[in-house]
Amino acid sequence: MTTESELLIDKAYVAGQWRDGVRRFVVTNPATGEVLAEVADLTAEEVREAVAAAEAAWPAWRRTTAKVRAALLRRWYEAIMAHQEALARLMTLEQGKPLAESRGEVAYGAAFVEYYAEEAKRVAGETLPSHGVDKRILVFREPIGVVAAITPWNFPLAMITRKCAPALAAGCPVVIKPAEATPLTALALARLAEDAGFPAGVINVVTAAHPAEIGEVLTTDPRVRKISFTGSTPVGKTLLAQCAGTVKKASMELGGNAPFIVFDDADLDAAVEGAVASKYRNSGQTCVCTNRLLVQAGVYDTFVEKLAARVGELKVGNGLEDGVAQGPLINAAAVDKVQSHIADALEKGGRLVCGGEPHALGGTFFEPTIIADVTEEMRVARDETFGPLAPVFRFETEEQAIAMANATEFGLAAYFYARDYRRIWRVMEGLEYGMVAVNEGILSTELAPFGGVKESGLGREGSRHGLDEYTELKYVCVGGL
Ligand code: ADP
Repeated sequence: MTTESELLIDKAYVAGQWRDGVRRFVVTNPATGEVLAEVADLTAEEVREAVAAAEAAWPAWRRTTAKVRAALLRRWYEAIMAHQEALARLMTLEQGKPLAESRGEVAYGAAFVEYYAEEAKRVAGETLPSHGVDKRILVFREPIGVVAAITPWNFPLAMITRKCAPALAAGCPVVIKPAEATPLTALALARLAEDAGFPAGVINVVTAAHPAEIGEVLTTDPRVRKISFTGSTPVGKTLLAQCAGTVKKASMELGGNAPFIVFDDADLDAAVEGAVASKYRNSGQTCVCTNRLLVQAGVYDTFVEKLAARVGELKVGNGLEDGVAQGPLINAAAVDKVQSHIADALEKGGRLVCGGEPHALGGTFFEPTIIADVTEEMRVARDETFGPLAPVFRFETEEQAIAMANATEFGLAAYFYARDYRRIWRVMEGLEYGMVAVNEGILSTELAPFGGVKESGLGREGSRHGLDEYTELKYVCVGGL
């Protein structure tokens, strides 16, 4: 079996070649502070070369048959799953998440490659009724062209495959700019794609420690036709503005402020399990993680008590150790943000139920925290914490819960637990969110369209809708018949 060290690569991947950069940057293990690798830190000029390589690969790539692209994707999928354990260990080393979650992410990320291997064969155009007896209307679905994917550190593998698999299936070459904290998983993925047989230039990985410089190249180069970004809302807004100059298409998967609503009629034990899964997964560092728990007055105290008992069981530690449910946070800035949200809530009258402090393990480990009696004046009501803090708000009526849930500029994921079927329909329809989970704590799957409304983003990833993001329609009018 391959080990993680055999998949550990410190070179960027451009035009089918593994390249040392002029500069390098350090990748560390957030659980131990240990240096894992010094990775090629590409310059703007080197990134332009990657764009040129993708552009050069495009004409041949778009002309391959769907069957050929499907077979390559399928081989990549099989390679990823054959190396699931090594990829998972590498991911835990650079990202910190528990090994069980890393294994889950490898399978989840690979599922996008499998899905789009199948979907590649279904990128169909259409013929439409025409506007004249001597004319015909044909609609082709064509690949959009070179795609730049800028991805975050919280899902080092799945955020790449969720963008690249549909792009490749559609016939687009890709330039991937992984997060500087987690380039190793991206490079290992590229190695497996190379082994699967993708032609040179079709997949490029540009590792870099200066994202603004690279982002500028990718958003302003006219050869890049599409940007797909997952990350923070401020960076997304900057990239969107930069895309305006070349009228580039953009998909943006940005921040959230997910409400998790528990109604009086909910199954409380199921709600507690759902809340733990959606709040503390990846130490609270996902864009669909619950940010605000809204609990109806009649079950408030019981829910908080049950949640505290369950959260008390979460083992914090190095993700490689057995039984660990929560790893370290990604860096010191992440810890500062959690601490500032806790301090603000406690200052304004919040009640600390458990946790609240950096963990005794030191580093960036943090105690899973619950604060009760939280109000809308507190920062946690508006800002995404991106850490293991569960603030519990109280509400009285269903209308109030929906209003509180929607009182944010974000609109990514929302969760609620209830049993009354009429209430379920009312709330489901009342929530202004791209995704709603009813009596479920986890909703991501390659089979469904993932994405947000309002300032949470543009476009969808996953399902057949995820492929549309990488195609353009060409209308052809055939006349004189
Ligand atoms: P987070 O706060 O979760 O780290 P970011 O939005 O900063 O989220 O990072 C997501 C991705 O965006 C990473 O790959 C990062 O390198 C990249 N990034 C950050 N700033 C910029 C920028 N100004 N231009 C382009 N990419 C950027």
